[in-house]
Amino acid sequence: MMKKRVYLSPPHMSKLERELMIEAFDSNWIAPLGPNVDLFEKEMSRYLDDKYCAALNSGTSALHLAIKIAGIKEGDIVLCPSLTFAASANVILYEKAVPIFVDVNFNSWTIDINCLQNAIEKYKPKALIAVDLYGQSCNYDEIMDLCNENNVFLIEDAAEALGSTYKNKKCGTFGQMSILSFNGNKIITTSGGGMLVSENDEYIKKAHFYATQSRENVIHYEHHEIGYNYRLSNILAAIGRGQLKTIEVKVEARRNIYNKYYKELNSFEGITFMTEMPHVKTNRWLTTLIIDSAIMGINRNEVINILEEENIEARPVWKPMHLQKLFHGSKFVTNNNQDVSKYLFDNGLCLPSGSNLNKKDHNRIIEVLIDCFSKK
Ligand SMILES: *Cc1c(COP(=O)(O)O)cnc(C)c1O
Repeated sequence: MMKKRVYLSPPHMSKLERELMIEAFDSNWIAPLGPNVDLFEKEMSRYLDDKYCAALNSGTSALHLAIKIAGIKEGDIVLCPSLTFAASANVILYEKAVPIFVDVNFNSWTIDINCLQNAIEKYKPKALIAVDLYGQSCNYDEIMDLCNENNVFLIEDAAEALGSTYKNKKCGTFGQMSILSFNGNKIITTSGGGMLVSENDEYIKKAHFYATQSRENVIHYEHHEIGYNYRLSNILAAIGRGQLKTIEVKVEARRNIYNKYYKELNSFEGITFMTEMPHVKTNRWLTTLIIDSAIMGINRNEVINILEEENIEARPVWKPMHLQKLFHGSKFVTNNNQDVSKYLFDNGLCLPSGSNLNKKDHNRIIEVLIDCFSKK
């Protein structure tokens, strides 16, 4: 018999989400507005140190509106780490701006400060999209200094980092605008959804405006600007409210999952886990590690295939943007041709890390991995 499938990061729902959703249904607020949307924004705002929030239908929509509201126009240069999910960079193209990719640091897996400094000096960008990769907060003291000194608009892509902190401040509060994602695989989910966050109320008002087709405030349908249909459904916001109530429990669950992987596997010489950087508490959205195939005698893809045979879902680390056909010809800034992004992509593995992963399945995954790593 086929073993039960273990997913990388499945949704983790409770009775509360179900009740809130049914309540929303019964109230007949089946629309991309309504009391749950307002409350989800308020509750997220409370969670994120009273920043202003706009609930949207995806993290990608939130990034797109951030780029627009930051005033990015055709031909403007926007920096972005190469090692990220494509959504971070796609939105630069939506506005016909020019992405320039920056390498990441070998220890943190987030944007490398040296490379960033070089890229800013050389290309004079309008904006930076900083990505808190796999829950690891960027080093915001240095990034914010560099951005302030050089007049670079800072957008924080915290899609993977809700619940993480840097110097005890929450990810999602560091950008002039920050974004969150509630996609099905993220730490909390509304099946699909996102949030734009800022301490500037004007930006958030603008986001609500753009997200409702830029409808002017008169009784008929009056439009002066291009608009979008980006608002979050009231039904989905109900689920989001339930999810947010247990964010801290979910973070602790994922951190415990990481700790167990680490304890059982870190003694293998050719295995390196993504380390938590100083001042950072990561949500450990996904446990990620590098396999040195020369030492281990097995490579990342072989490990994924063996896990797949056991019906366990594992994945490579994001494929860097500068290696994607879509971005062929884009500039890439790295230290001495190191290309850390490519190294992490070639050797990096993401392991099942859902906050509802049970002990038995977790042990089974670890057994398969120990078996893989002991083969040589
Ligand atoms: C998931 C993700 C997004 C996009 O969010 P969606 O809600 O799926 O549109 C953006 N950036 C990063 C880094 C992500 O992981």
